[in-house]
Amino acid sequence: MRALVVGGGPAGTTAAIALGRAGVEALVLEREETDRPVGIGLALQNSPLRALHTLGLLAPVVERGFSHEAVDICAPDGTVVHRVVTEPLVPGTPPMVAISRVALAGILSEALAATQGTEIRYGTSVTDLRDLGGGVEADLTDGSTERFDLVVGADGLHSTVRAMVLPAAPEPTRAGQLIWRVSAPRPAEVDRYLLTDLGPRGRVGLVPIADDELYLWFLQPDDGGPRVPEGQRLAALRQRLTPFGGLVPLVAERLRPDVDHRALAAMLLPPPWHRGRVVLIGDAAHTTTPHIAYGVGMAIEDSVVLTEELGRGGTVEAALQAFTERRFERCRLVVETSLQLSRWEVDPPADPTLHHQLTGHALAALSEPL
Ligand SMILES: Cc1cc2nc3c(=O)[nH]c(=O)nc-3n(C[C@H](O)[C@H](O)[C@H](O)COP(=O)(O)OP(=O)(O)OC[C@H]3O[C@@H](n4cnc5c(N)ncnc54)[C@H](O)[C@@H]3O)c2cc1C
Repeated sequence: MRALVVGGGPAGTTAAIALGRAGVEALVLEREETDRPVGIGLALQNSPLRALHTLGLLAPVVERGFSHEAVDICAPDGTVVHRVVTEPLVPGTPPMVAISRVALAGILSEALAATQGTEIRYGTSVTDLRDLGGGVEADLTDGSTERFDLVVGADGLHSTVRAMVLPAAPEPTRAGQLIWRVSAPRPAEVDRYLLTDLGPRGRVGLVPIADDELYLWFLQPDDGGPRVPEGQRLAALRQRLTPFGGLVPLVAERLRPDVDHRALAAMLLPPPWHRGRVVLIGDAAHTTTPHIAYGVGMAIEDSVVLTEELGRGGTVEAALQAFTERRFERCRLVVETSLQLSRWEVDPPADPTLHHQLTGHALAALSEPL
């Protein structure tokens, strides 16, 4: 069996690794010339870590990332008022790891290179897909035409594959919040994930992602105004961080100048996530806001479940149908929970504990077996 995987992000690379290990040849097309992950760091919760364990990739992630026991929610002065705790699902390993996006991309690209039967072509995409019944013919941007048994669209939020095979899919919607992301050298005092909440004025996360590195994110309501120009972002972010106490001022002094700033978006593709032998995974099928840190996590889980379903020996179409059935409710829980948390951050509910309750409920449900 031979698969075409469009997109070389977390979804595409983990899919190719999982398929390759199951004996399916996989050609990955990545339109960029090199791995160029967007953003700085990310957190992987217990279930995605379990999925990485299935792929044999948990050890390097733990080694190159920063292990966390909990997320500490702080009052503006830095006092811890609540802890979000999850249980590890792989005995002897942490329940959460935060890691730099570049480090994760490096681990996945090394694993892909070491997986027999896989190939990645950079600077290449797909221009047409033709369903031949028993296979799919794909025209590639390098001028070649090749035939595959399966096509996996792992090309992110603005998926070209989705537009080709499911043109009636819903458009991504703006979530009503803006995020700022930036890195800094980690001061020794920031030795855990700290989240400080100032209600509708914003929330800030300090996330160690390696021994010497941390990632700061700041979320604020989207007022619809013009975006701060690139050269002015660091000063604008520092200004927005001035009401925060605790360890935030210490980190604010050390921030690097390269600040990523964007509006949050979400999208959930209604089932089915496939047409014929073409299936969508990762952000191409479900894009979430980062409120429970599960976007990459869902992508990794998708790759594991897709490969399990293809391994059952039925038809490709039946496997793709079973894949969506196993994944849809779980991904809906992530997308809808995250959007609700986002709305409450803009327009807080009368009961301030609802935010923690919903987060705890979702993380517990997501700890169940895939
Ligand atoms: C602010 C923010 C914070 C986040 N924090 C977290 C977190 O803490 N934890 C977490 O798990 N998730 C987090 N996420 C979500 C996470 O980044 C995404 O869910 C994840 O990157 C999705 O992976 P993907 O491979 O599906 O898509 P992408 O990462 O978008 O990768 C798609 C790849 O496909 C390539 N591509 C696109 N179009 C084509 C084409 N036509 N042909 C060939 N290649 C193509 C792109 O260049 C890219 O390499 C966060 C997201 C945001 C916005």
